Amino acid sequence: MAVALLVAAGSGERLGADRPKAFVALGGKSMLQWSLEAIDAAGIDDVVIAMPREMLVYSSEGATVVAGGAVRSESVRNALEACDGDPVVVHDAARPLAPAALFQRVLDELRGSGVDGVVAAAPVTDTVKRAQDGDVVETLDRSALWAVQTPQAFRREALERALDVPDDVLAAATDDAWLVERAGGRVRVVPGPPENLKVTTPRDLRVAEELLRAD
Ligand code: C5P
Repeated sequence: MAVALLVAAGSGERLGADRPKAFVALGGKSMLQWSLEAIDAAGIDDVVIAMPREMLVYSSEGATVVAGGAVRSESVRNALEACDGDPVVVHDAARPLAPAALFQRVLDELRGSGVDGVVAAAPVTDTVKRAQDGDVVETLDRSALWAVQTPQAFRREALERALDVPDDVLAAATDDAWLVERAGGRVRVVPGPPENLKVTTPRDLRVAEELLRAD
């Protein structure tokens, strides 16, 4: 049975709020709550939340709660160790607008394709250049580029193996799929909506409020 790991242990310093980011209100409920409701609506009953240590006193109904780690992938590893579900869907609480259908889409693709991981991603619409010291080194072929989001679904065994790496490798990971890729796993992308933004700055929070109002 599938399990969702909701990583919510970031401090959210760039948001400048008076509490950890996942507990900041958006449209009348916490960012964390939006993701919990989407996961529930997707029919995933088993949820583990990686929380900041100081928030562990707050339990979340029906969910297992663990302390997050020093870096994001350590939080994922702590959450994975606290459950035994398979497949595993990892989601950032910083993406409160991920719809339930997107959780189902990554899981369906994982089950249907037999690969090790499936990530939600949006096609890149900007032209992307690689530059060094301000000098453009190359212009990338945009048609092959995807801006990666969460949720990301994995076969449990592939994710466990991918996370079994030294701390410096964990610290360098900006998503879990990269760890699976570097362990030799096959990963696919499925389209996720551009509205599935990551809330990092106060501006992102205002944009998310607007998107909710427009719904
Ligand atoms: O810091 P960043 O915005 O990349 O974090 C992405 C997600 O990972 C957020 O939901 C954040 O709460 C979570 N995170 C975590 N543990 C950390 C750092 C980030 O659970 N040590």
